[in-house]
Amino acid sequence: MDAHDSLSPPSLASAVAQARAAQPAWAALSFRERARALRKLALRLRDDQELPRLISSEGGKPMFEAVGFEVVYLLESIRFLAGRAGRAALVETCRRPFVFPWKRARVAWRPRGVVAVIGPWNFPLLNNVGDAVAPLLAGNAVLLKPSPHTPGASRRVEQLWRQASLPNGIFQVVEGDAEVGRALVDVCDMVFFTGSVAGGQAVARRAGERLIPYVAELGGKSPMIVLADADLEAAARGAAWGAFANSGQICIRPQRVLVQAEVADAFVALLVHKAQTLRVGPVTGDVDVGALMLDAQVERARAQIADAVTRGGQILCGGDLLADQPGRFFAPTVIDHVAPDAALAREETFAPVLPILRVRDADEAVRLANDSPLGLAGYVWSANSETARNVARRLQTGSVCINDVLVNYLCANAPLGGIKQSGLGFRNGPEALRQFCYPQTIVEDRALLGWLAAFVRRQLAFPYRQRTLRLVRWLIRVIYP
Ligand code: NAD
Repeated sequence: MDAHDSLSPPSLASAVAQARAAQPAWAALSFRERARALRKLALRLRDDQELPRLISSEGGKPMFEAVGFEVVYLLESIRFLAGRAGRAALVETCRRPFVFPWKRARVAWRPRGVVAVIGPWNFPLLNNVGDAVAPLLAGNAVLLKPSPHTPGASRRVEQLWRQASLPNGIFQVVEGDAEVGRALVDVCDMVFFTGSVAGGQAVARRAGERLIPYVAELGGKSPMIVLADADLEAAARGAAWGAFANSGQICIRPQRVLVQAEVADAFVALLVHKAQTLRVGPVTGDVDVGALMLDAQVERARAQIADAVTRGGQILCGGDLLADQPGRFFAPTVIDHVAPDAALAREETFAPVLPILRVRDADEAVRLANDSPLGLAGYVWSANSETARNVARRLQTGSVCINDVLVNYLCANAPLGGIKQSGLGFRNGPEALRQFCYPQTIVEDRALLGWLAAFVRRQLAFPYRQRTLRLVRWLIRVIYP
C-alpha cells in the first residue's frame, strides 16, 4: 500500500477504511503477538542505513542526533513498551466488589480503534513514528500524519513495515498539511497530537465537539535553575548541550536559565566559552549545530532578541545568523540580564538562544519558573540532592531533571508530558499504553455463588419492601461506621 500524498478525500477515506477493516484482527492478537511484530520492525529500523540519513538531511541535524536521539528513542520505546511492563499494564484483572462479594468485575483494556498520530517537524522519527508505538501495542490501527516539512522518515518506516510483512492497514502514513490533520481528527477515534499550542488548541476544540479523547504534547519554556552550590562547569556544559542541541529546536530543552546571582558571572563565563567553541554549519561536515528549519524561526528569534536588548539584555555571544555562511545557521546565543517580562523570557524560542536571568535565591527562582502559562520540563542544578529534590517538587512542570538535561525524554519507563498549556496526557511509561484504551468492566456472578446472587437480586428488585429498606439502613451503619 502506498503513502497517501494529499488530502484527496478518496485516499484519506481509503486509508481510514483499510485501518477500520484491519484493526479488529490486530486487536484480537495477544499482546505478545503484537509485541513480536513491533520487535520485528525494530530490527529493521536498527539496521536501516537510509533512515538516519533521511532524518539528518530533512531536518538539517547532525547524524549524531539522528541516531543518538531519534533512532535510540524509538528502539528503546519499543524495547520497553513491548516488554513485561507493557504487557502487565494491559492485563485483564478480576475484582470483587465490596458490597456484592458474590460478584466478580472483570476489567479489560480495549483499544480505541483508529488513532490519528499527528506530528511536528523537529523530531521526524521520534515524535512521529515514536508516538505510534503505544497505540499500536494497545491494539489500535494508526494513521500517522507527519509534518509536511519532514515526511521522509515516516514514509521510510511505512516501507520497512511492509518489508517486514506486518499486517496491512495497521500502520499507514497520511501525508499533508494542517488541513489533512483536521480531516483526520474528523474521522479517527482518538488523536495523539504533538506540535504548537495553537495547533493543540485547534485539535482540542474539534475533538471536544466529537467527544473523542486526545493526547496533546505542546510547546515549552522550560526553566533551568542553577543554585549557588552547583558544579558550575557541569551546569554550563549541560546548559550548552541542552539549549543548542538540534539547533535549539527541542520542546523540552532549557529555554531560560535562572542562576543565583552570586555565581552568575562564573557560570555565564563558562557557558559563553562553550557556546563559542561549537561548530555550526551544514550537517554534511563535522558539526555540532545544524541549520534552523524555517525562516519564521529566524525572524521570531531576532524579534525576541531585539526586545530583550531594549529591556536591558546584553548579548554575550551570537545574536544572529552566521554572517559568513549562507543558510539558516544561527550562532549559539547567550543573552545576560534578560528582564523577566521580555518575550525571550516568556515565549517559546525554537532557535539556539539562551536567556540568563539572575535571581536572589531558590525561592525567587521557583517563583519566576512557575510564572508561565507553559509547564513542560524543568532542570535543577545543585550539589545537594535534598535541596535539588525540594526545588524540583515545587516546579509546575510535567518532568524535572536534576543535574542533567534532556535525558528525561529517554526514560522510556517513566511518563513524560506537560501541564498547563504544554499539554494533556503523556508519552512513555506503561501508563501511556492505557491512554489508548478504554476500560471495559464486565460484571458477573462468581461461580458457586449464583444462588446467593439470585436471592439478593430478588430482594433488591421491585416491589420495594419496608423490611428490606430497614435491612439496608442497618447495613449502611455496619459497613460505614
Ligand atoms: P504545528 O502545530 O504547526 O504542527 C504540528 C502538526 O500538526 C503538523 O503535522 C501540522 O500539519 C499539524 N497541524 C497543525 N494545525 C493543525 C490542526 N488545526 N489540526 C490538525 N493538525 C494540525 O507544530 P510544529 O511547528 O510542526 O512543531 C513545533 C512545535 O511542536 C513546538 O511548539 C514544539 O515545542 C512542539 N513540540 C512539542 C513536543 C512535546 O513533546 N511536548 C515535542 C516536539 C515538538
